[in-house]
Amino acid sequence: MGCDYCDIVDRNSRAQILYEDDTTLVVVKDLVLIPGQITILPRQHFTILELVPDEIVRKCSVLASKVSQAVFDSLEPQGTNILVHNGLGGGQKVPHFAIEIIPRREGDGLNLQWPPKEVTEEELEMVVQQLEPEVKKLGDLTQIKPEEPQQKKKEETKSEVKEQKENYLTKSLRRIP
Ligand SMILES: [Zn+2]
Repeated sequence: MGCDYCDIVDRNSRAQILYEDDTTLVVVKDLVLIPGQITILPRQHFTILELVPDEIVRKCSVLASKVSQAVFDSLEPQGTNILVHNGLGGGQKVPHFAIEIIPRREGDGLNLQWPPKEVTEEELEMVVQQLEPEVKKLGDLTQIKPEEPQQKKKEETKSEVKEQKENYLTKSLRRIP
């Protein structure tokens, strides 16, 4: 069975590609909650967030921030929802990790509310106890290794290219009705 997002990457889809580089794409899909919804996805097929290499997770996260800014600047919503459907239980329909940027306006009719309910003292305690051993590793797991000076120079050139591409992204977004 094919993957709808790999089809986008392969240009076998009506989705419009706004930006792409060697690892990631920013696209406007033809099936969305609301016009202006933008999707960020890795070029390679990873089913869920936890399988995406850290470097690409970072790239997708930074893109999510920049794309949300571009959505604010061009479509002028009152807010955005930034959403990941992670796994079947999380409502994931396409088995290819993606981040959705959804522009929001008061009274737009989208039902994306999940009112919080208060947990008991025991529930709170239990969650902390169960997670604590895993969470203790986070410091090591999230450490970014210092860059070599030579690599740094490369990064600078990369960011210049990125800047040009971001201008293109903003321009493309303005064309959305
Ligand atoms: Zn895929």
